[in-house]
Amino acid sequence: MRVLVTGGAGYIGSHTVKALHTAGFEVVVFDNFSTGHRELVMGRNVIEGDLMSKHEVRSAFSEFPCDAVMHFASLIQVGESFRDPQRYYTANLISSLNLLDGMLEAGIDTFIFSSSAAVYGDPEDVPILETHPLRPANPYGQTKYFVESILQDYARAYGLRFISLRYFNAAGADPGGELGELHEPETHLIPNILRSLLEKDKTLEIFGTDFPTPDGTAVRDYIHVSDLAGAHALALQKLLEGLESGVINLGANHGYSVREVIHKVEEVTGRTVEYREGPRRRGDVPVLLASKARAEKWLGWRPRHSDLETMIRTAWEWHRSRHPRG
Ligand code: UDP
Repeated sequence: MRVLVTGGAGYIGSHTVKALHTAGFEVVVFDNFSTGHRELVMGRNVIEGDLMSKHEVRSAFSEFPCDAVMHFASLIQVGESFRDPQRYYTANLISSLNLLDGMLEAGIDTFIFSSSAAVYGDPEDVPILETHPLRPANPYGQTKYFVESILQDYARAYGLRFISLRYFNAAGADPGGELGELHEPETHLIPNILRSLLEKDKTLEIFGTDFPTPDGTAVRDYIHVSDLAGAHALALQKLLEGLESGVINLGANHGYSVREVIHKVEEVTGRTVEYREGPRRRGDVPVLLASKARAEKWLGWRPRHSDLETMIRTAWEWHRSRHPRG
């Protein structure tokens, strides 16, 4: 079984490539390396290509005939999506459409999509079930919502078989130490805290201390990136075995506030985190918490590394290994 993985040089993509190798799949990585990193790509089958080019997508499928596709490649920064929605809609939608066109032409019908909890917006109830109404609160989330709608129409009309995985907050690094998070600029909480400990010019800012939560800071459902990666391999196996198309949350069903994460980092690293308190970031909601009942039932998925300490420890080992002051 051969799988084409777009964005396989990125954070979640590269961990999933590792999980796919472990599960016995042959993998072809397709990445334009605009934000991905060559050193994170495992395996020899690598295509440097751009999903905005139909021609490049077509030649990828003719060079490497595949049984399935996993689509990670995407712009992912919420703040930037407010400032430049044109770029987000164009990149995230056209690239997905080109990829699906290429699949239909090549007769590939099995697809795993990287979606996001951002499709829910500010939830009415937590934990969030997959049946919760979809009201994305930012252009980034809208692009994920639109691609999910396209997948449902393509499934009905062309027999596409898909699973859309709605990630909550990916965190941590490969427990084997081979892979980790390398975003530039970094916008995520845990790497920003760790980098504030390692880099002189980086100060942590807490975005919002007036949320309606017990300590005033926002609560998120953090899930270890290797658990996310494992869920992709399981979703693909189940889809190939006949699981119906659909959407599945990937979260731990456990929430931590920004202050709780900071305290745990201090405990794990033995260092004091300095920070300033700033205003809320646009589009941030107070609480996101996943129901993982469907992931457990449909995929038999059990997160193994998603306790806060393991997520922070693996991320800390990764960041320290890459930093001279570590
Ligand atoms: N956050 C923060 N400071 C940072 C980065 C993030 O206070 O430097 C907060 C952010 O406002 C949110 C939580 O941490 O409440 C998680 O943010 P992240 O960007 O990691 O993920 P998101 O939930 O936005 O996808």
